[in-house]
Amino acid sequence: MRLCPLLFFICITAAFRSEARDFLVVIDPGHGGNDRGASLQVGKVSVNEKELTLLLAKELALELGKLKIGSALTREGDEFLALEDRTAFANRKQGSVFISLHMNSLMPKGGMRVPEGFESYILNTTTDESSKRLADLENQVLRDSKVTRAAQTSDIALIVKDFILDANLKPSKELACAIQLKSAESGRNRGVRQALFYVLLGADMPSVLLEAGFIAHPKDRERILNPKLRAKFARQLALAVQDFRMRKKDASIGARLTACKPT
Ligand SMILES: [Zn+2]
Repeated sequence: MRLCPLLFFICITAAFRSEARDFLVVIDPGHGGNDRGASLQVGKVSVNEKELTLLLAKELALELGKLKIGSALTREGDEFLALEDRTAFANRKQGSVFISLHMNSLMPKGGMRVPEGFESYILNTTTDESSKRLADLENQVLRDSKVTRAAQTSDIALIVKDFILDANLKPSKELACAIQLKSAESGRNRGVRQALFYVLLGADMPSVLLEAGFIAHPKDRERILNPKLRAKFARQLALAVQDFRMRKKDASIGARLTACKPT
């Protein structure tokens, strides 16, 4: 900035460019292709996580568009994408935020009631057992495919990128909080949690993995399958992104997001 008086024109142009640069949300519909994610037989119909995440991703893109917020999807159809390819796409696109959409795959066992509601995850190595189990399931695709080696290599590279992850921790938490708070009208808010999700590890921007309900819970499933409920939920997610954008300009939003803590 000290050079600015000398390079006034260049500085003004650069400032204008960064102001004018669109805020881009990279939406990642979890799973795809051979990787169905969580799967459930409902009557004669098989419901797959990969389909629900794509439905929600497209709806979210639509709602973001209505708020004049740009978005890009890591996949537009039913195709397999390795976890690191999803964040590589986001980094290439220079996304402002990265949101990976999933459905919680927990299935009821022995008379247990299916939990309901949604939870947002931010990246962390955690000792919490249930978060660890969930992360293991979402990371399964690494062990099931030939990408394990590549992922390990990129893990090492990511240690070097530690400072990027550190810098993104606070905004990631704020984005996760915005999502949880805004969408609480649609269902049970299970809070912001932390886990080691590989799909978040590679992102060079604030990133959140949203478990948008339990696939085994009829209410949670309906929220995605029913077009009206889905549109409402997607609208709340889009408004959450808008809140995140406004958090530094609007003190009340900023205070709300700062007060929200991971569980
Ligand atoms: Zn998933």
